Amino acid sequence: MTNLDEIKKLCEKLECKITLDCSLKEYVTFRFGGPCKALISINSAASAAELIKYMKDNDVKYGILGRGSNVIASDEGFDGVILLFGSDFAGISIDGNTIKCDAGALLASACVHAQQASLSGMENLFGIPGTVGGALFMNAGAYGSEMKDVVVSAEYIDSDCNIKTITKDEMNLSYRHSIFSETDCVITSVTMQLSSGNSDEIKEAMNECMAKRSSKQPLDYPSAGSTFKRPEGSYASLLIDQCGLKGLTCGGAMVSEKHSGFVINKGYATCADVLELCSEIQRIVKEKTGYRLELEPVILK
Ligand SMILES: Cc1cc2nc3c(=O)[nH]c(=O)nc-3n(C[C@H](O)[C@H](O)[C@H](O)COP(=O)(O)OP(=O)(O)OC[C@H]3O[C@@H](n4cnc5c(N)ncnc54)[C@H](O)[C@@H]3O)c2cc1C
Repeated sequence: MTNLDEIKKLCEKLECKITLDCSLKEYVTFRFGGPCKALISINSAASAAELIKYMKDNDVKYGILGRGSNVIASDEGFDGVILLFGSDFAGISIDGNTIKCDAGALLASACVHAQQASLSGMENLFGIPGTVGGALFMNAGAYGSEMKDVVVSAEYIDSDCNIKTITKDEMNLSYRHSIFSETDCVITSVTMQLSSGNSDEIKEAMNECMAKRSSKQPLDYPSAGSTFKRPEGSYASLLIDQCGLKGLTCGGAMVSEKHSGFVINKGYATCADVLELCSEIQRIVKEKTGYRLELEPVILK
């Protein structure tokens, strides 16, 4: 990459950590993926805006990553710069019933902060891996709750690299979808409105959610969570189960025996294995049930 020296200097000025020639598999929960030229750990909205402006002005390919828990990273890697929204940009503040989180804050930390402040509304989101920014990007949800139920506004970097505010009504939030997945806008902070509750009861509800996850999901294997979106009128896991696909394997990728909605990495899966297995699942499910399954994770390439 010809601009690497300039990018390094810009990172130095902005005090953002830059890691060169890293492996994507270290940054995604599926634990596969090829090399990446540079990965920059974002430390503020202003730094992110300046870096994105540089990338756009100089035609440098860039990608956005939170915890990488809803991403399929290609075996060829990423021929550009990854902007990582993680622990260097993870502030959480509470004011009354409002909780404001930097995009890199873990959703789980936000849930714990809310519980400690006796704020209810995020209990069912506890246990979803990933950042608050990543959760809003895809309107993450579980057990009948989704980000849509708690978010009131967000700050984001628009296509012209200005930092703007957007209200919930403007976010086009629906099942695993937000306006951010339609544009190149980047979420920098999320504000959520919760209600007053009892701290012990909130904690109990969170623990119950976590227990359900551990008993039903193959959490001891790397994955990106549910591999397919829920098709209208059914459930991906139910259809996969009905087609007898539990345990179906392609290289190191396998349909989990514990939860058929999850494709897991047995330890040596490649992106090609996962994509081949997914198309086989899609083909068989379509043939046998008529349902078309759509991938939930985003392919990073
Ligand atoms: C074991 C397991 C269980 C899971 N359970 C659930 C569940 O119950 N419910 C559910 O909804 N999901 C679930 N997921 C999927 C995943 O955890 C969520 O989608 C999560 O919200 C993704 O956040 P992330 O920070 O990891 O995003 P990433 O995977 O890093 O990114 C996902 C997408 O969001 C974009 N993105 C990330 N941050 C930003 C930002 N700040 N601005 C703009 N774009 C951004 C990325 O470019 C990428 O396209 C699960 C995953 C795993 C591994």
